[in-house]
Amino acid sequence: MAPLLDIQDLRVHYLTRRGVVRAVDGVSISLGRGEVLGLVGESGCGKSTLGLSVLRLVPPPGAIVGGSILFDGVDLTRLSDEEMRRIRGKRISMIFQDPMTSLNPVMRIKDHFVEMIRTHEPETSEEEAVDRAARLMARMGIEERRLWDYPHQLSGGMRQRVMIALALILGPDLVIADEPTTALDTLVQAQIIDLLKEVVEEYGVAMMLITHDLGVVAELADRIAIMYAGKIVEVADAESFFDEPLHPYSRGLLDSVLTIESEKGSIRYIPGSPPDLRNPPKGCRFHPRCPYATDRCRSEEPPRVEVDGRQVWCFRWV
Ligand code: ADP
Ligand code: MG
Repeated sequence: MAPLLDIQDLRVHYLTRRGVVRAVDGVSISLGRGEVLGLVGESGCGKSTLGLSVLRLVPPPGAIVGGSILFDGVDLTRLSDEEMRRIRGKRISMIFQDPMTSLNPVMRIKDHFVEMIRTHEPETSEEEAVDRAARLMARMGIEERRLWDYPHQLSGGMRQRVMIALALILGPDLVIADEPTTALDTLVQAQIIDLLKEVVEEYGVAMMLITHDLGVVAELADRIAIMYAGKIVEVADAESFFDEPLHPYSRGLLDSVLTIESEKGSIRYIPGSPPDLRNPPKGCRFHPRCPYATDRCRSEEPPRVEVDGRQVWCFRWV
């Protein structure tokens, strides 16, 4: 069966006055129905831009400049704004890091649900919409009376539960969750991860889970995609990935998580930082930070290599 989401050679650039930022630069990735894909990489690698592209919400001066995004067989890059509005929220929804930016501060929680439902199903009465919201909120562990609160009256964790409920209320096929736990403290973070894990199974929804933290996807993702400087460098099923990541960058990311967990205080990290995407390095973009870089890595772009059903873009495996 064709995948739910099939992104091919996607290019999304920010055309700034100081140059072209190649935030997503030739990304191909697919996502099956009900599958959770963890999209992981350091800050500035293009993860949010990739997630926003799927909803066609990349802000100017950003633009999709090439490639395709097939969703259930339809190329989203070719839809009109009106057609895209019908998909957004209904078939593909999004959870952001900071719920305060997506919740309207002067609207009660219930009205967010009413608006979301009636945008797509105008025949639904307000009463019925609130009823549906209450049932889903209960599933998220929030009392019904909270529907009459304003966003600022809720804790950060509750607001994120509301965001998850809003993302699920219309029964979408795909949820894009961009750093959904990053702004929360550790305990609440763990609760939200558990909740996401439950709802993904219960509602059979597919999820693109974007995070800079491999620890977050370890529990949730079926498959992992590692992104570096606008490109995917490795895709693998979660189990074999955590067993042995193949790309030196993936290795570095995993080492830094394991080191923080096992010996507090001695944080081993990948030296250096991601490049300026207006002028990325030649060859493999990771070569300036890679302990294994050779002359070839400095001049040629690594091809995609299949290793045991996994994909890695690195000359070490050629
Ligand atoms: P991530 O989510 O992995 O941190 P982003 O997608 O936010 O990465 O950013 C990717 C690159 O695009 C970065 O170099 C960032 O500076 C740049 N970028 C993001 N948003 C804009 C914007 N509105 N205008 C110009 N450049 C942007
Ligand atoms: Mg981001």
